[in-house]
Amino acid sequence: MNRSFKDLMDDARRAVPEVTVDDVRARLDRSPAPVLVDVREREEYRDGHLAGALSLPRGFLEMRVEEAVPDRGAEIIAYCAGGTRSLIAGKILKDMGYTNVVSMIGGFGAWKGGGNPWTADRQFSADQMQRYSRHFILPEVGEAGQAKLLDAKVLLIGAGGLGSPTAYYLAAAGVGTIGIVDDDVVDRSNLQRQILHADDRVGMPKVESAQKTLQGLNPDVKVIGFRERVTSENVMRLFADWDVIVDGCDNFPTRYLVNDACVFLGKPNVHGSIFQFEGQATVFWPGHGPCYRCLFPEPPPPGAAPSCQEAGVLGVLPGLVGCVQAVETVKLILGVGRPLVGRLLHFDTLAMEIKQLKLRRDPECPVCGDSPTIRELIDYEEFCGLRGGHGAAA
Ligand SMILES: [Zn+2]
Repeated sequence: MNRSFKDLMDDARRAVPEVTVDDVRARLDRSPAPVLVDVREREEYRDGHLAGALSLPRGFLEMRVEEAVPDRGAEIIAYCAGGTRSLIAGKILKDMGYTNVVSMIGGFGAWKGGGNPWTADRQFSADQMQRYSRHFILPEVGEAGQAKLLDAKVLLIGAGGLGSPTAYYLAAAGVGTIGIVDDDVVDRSNLQRQILHADDRVGMPKVESAQKTLQGLNPDVKVIGFRERVTSENVMRLFADWDVIVDGCDNFPTRYLVNDACVFLGKPNVHGSIFQFEGQATVFWPGHGPCYRCLFPEPPPPGAAPSCQEAGVLGVLPGLVGCVQAVETVKLILGVGRPLVGRLLHFDTLAMEIKQLKLRRDPECPVCGDSPTIRELIDYEEFCGLRGGHGAAA
């Protein structure tokens, strides 16, 4: 039996209740909030949509809805431009087992026409549409996530072994502003692992070399170099404007300093460290989990933990750890997944074993505990029993 468009619409109307714009507004104020599903084409959505609406164009609805809305009982409000496509979409959702679906009468046109709030996505350039296309396809990133990445500001401590892969991938991913603090110059002995740099840049400041490499990979991101060491005097100024701090330093005074400053400023500190064939990574996020001092209240005695320069390091190892730091940074910016907070990944590359250790915040912690005894920055060289310690990045 042939079925006309009118027949299909009549079927849809019988299956899917239609609700007014006013009703939708009232439903959105309730808790839990309903799931808004925008079934228009991508370009229509980009030009303006209801805040928080999922973009599931009609052509992809069946393919993508189960991942986007796993709960078949969820309250779904479907809308399109005028109320026709969303009614048909609603019928499909009903057929797929979604039990609580309504369609908004008059669609986005009626919503906007009624003076209700809406948002428009960032307009991406043609270059950006191509460059980030694999991100756009992921529902967890999409255009909204890419906009977050482009708006994000991440400060890397050190353009060395760890900072190299982290910065490389953050730039590739389109993290819009990348700051790098490093006062060192490129040495040929760095090139065994510090992949931001190159042989013809020996003697060049690392921040300058990093800028060249990152800008070459992605001219869409801004790279700001700070050719200085992080100290108690400059750390608050250096950290003030950034969303996430990535610690790739190779010495204890800097590690404690970065930790304390992040606790005082409430900023997430994506931590990595390496030693010979072993490395570790975790995220210290004040208010969400432990800090570095919860794990290590005291630094090791001077000389007990030699640097890469003294003890050597496997060239590939910082690539592993730095990439974990990059992934965690991107997740923090996007607000997706489970951050590596309260967990530490330990890599043993000789045995090729990765262990996950659970970490707890220590209520007695001198800096993030219940009654902190350290309330301002201290002399970190002295705290670590060092004077004029080594400052280069791993
Ligand atoms: Zn702590």
